[in-house]
Amino acid sequence: MNCSVAARCGGCQLTRMTYRQQLTHKQALVEKLLAPYCPVEPILGMTNPFHYRNKVHAALGVDKRGLPLSGVYAAGTHRIVPVKRCLIEDERASRIIQTIMELLPAFKLRVYNEYTGRGFLRHVLIRTGWHTGEILVVLVASSLEFPGKRAFVAELRQRHPEITSLVLNQNDRHTSMVLGRREPVLFGPGYLEDMLCGKRFRISPQSFYQVNAQQAEILYQTAIELAGFTGEETVLDAYCGTGTIGLCASDHIRRLIGVELNPDAVRDARENAQRNGVANAEFICEDAGRFMTRLAKQKQAPDVVIMDPPRAGSDMPFLRSLLALASKRVVYVSCNPETLARDVAVLCAGGYRAEKAVPVDMFPWTEHVETVVLISKGEIDSKKVRVEFSLEDMDMSGFQKGATYEQIKAYVLKHTGLKVSSLYISQVKRKCGLDVGQNYNLSKKEDAKVPQCPPEKEAAIMEALKHFQMLE
Ligand code: SAH
Repeated sequence: MNCSVAARCGGCQLTRMTYRQQLTHKQALVEKLLAPYCPVEPILGMTNPFHYRNKVHAALGVDKRGLPLSGVYAAGTHRIVPVKRCLIEDERASRIIQTIMELLPAFKLRVYNEYTGRGFLRHVLIRTGWHTGEILVVLVASSLEFPGKRAFVAELRQRHPEITSLVLNQNDRHTSMVLGRREPVLFGPGYLEDMLCGKRFRISPQSFYQVNAQQAEILYQTAIELAGFTGEETVLDAYCGTGTIGLCASDHIRRLIGVELNPDAVRDARENAQRNGVANAEFICEDAGRFMTRLAKQKQAPDVVIMDPPRAGSDMPFLRSLLALASKRVVYVSCNPETLARDVAVLCAGGYRAEKAVPVDMFPWTEHVETVVLISKGEIDSKKVRVEFSLEDMDMSGFQKGATYEQIKAYVLKHTGLKVSSLYISQVKRKCGLDVGQNYNLSKKEDAKVPQCPPEKEAAIMEALKHFQMLE
């Protein structure tokens, strides 16, 4: 791929390969990890693997002459690599970002400076609808005071009548999180709508939505086919986001229950059920592991469990409860084959059998790959295994609650450019009431003074802990 910033941007790792080579590479990766459990079908790739990203995030900064520039953070830093034209992002979004950059000086709007805390606009986030063509623009600013707002909005709309909604998001924190909580709507409905598998979905600025909608349809169809619904099933859609997979399946099942942690996404999911006239669905806002534990206690087994956890994979409370409930079929959708293989190992050791895996290329030019695995329960096997199997015998080292110190350090470095020590991480964890494990606070020398974590690093570590869901 002919991208001039590939090396400095770091977003795409496979630019030196042809698209066919990438597919072979991803196929081999999934096969290597899943070979012990099941056969892997050929990866489902794209015909045109460009400009597929429907979520575009531009970080803003200034160049040496003080002129505003937009782009991406160079890997592991907060230095901006200017990007005018990205080969994987929606081109309509790139053009809108360029216009916003041009308008800033004319409207005397300044780009936010992370070091001084002064200036207005921090990021621009754009989400586009694949089937609807709708475009939601989110201006992330340090304040809700937007001088010249009306004129700016009018000018932007005039130049880009394709924008269907504009939202101002206030992020006044000194952290690497892109979006803050307050987000007044400047025009339009304040959310995006898109179609998937013939259903219409509403997606709020903060809700998860697959970044490649074209391939998401293929992913969902694959998951639905593998589930082999008869129309009689009660289905749990765990980690359901805005309810997309379950609602796409709702015509083929008796009852749908979705569980999701993000309240915005749950609100969207309920709204999505209503607007598609789906009457057999309910959505619950809760940690998926906790919800499954409750189901297991009440012995209420769904017939089919669809699970689509984030990169960290599922957790032991969830998997243990799934084993106890012994649902007939599990369709595991995963964006990280390593945690997928780890979780499949647990389910197979507990009496399930992985039938087959289908990789789907949702992220061409990057090293990421999505995989759907059908896991089912053989009746006779399950009784036999239940006697033999004990969770206590298994190696659970991959499931330590949350992330390792190394993962936290890497996350903080990538998102803030700050280096933090294990000592600082342990101080912040202890402050938050988390288990620290080793006692990092004890200095080797008795009288040595222990340095204390500065506030900026503390905030960065807290963000990482939240990212890894170690904090509420
Ligand atoms: N199935 C959806 C979303 C998948 S992304 C889709 O295809 O669009 C994973 C989702 O899991 C996100 O919406 C995230 O908010 C949610 N999530 C993360 N941790 C969770 C947890 N512990 N319990 C429930 N949901 C969780």
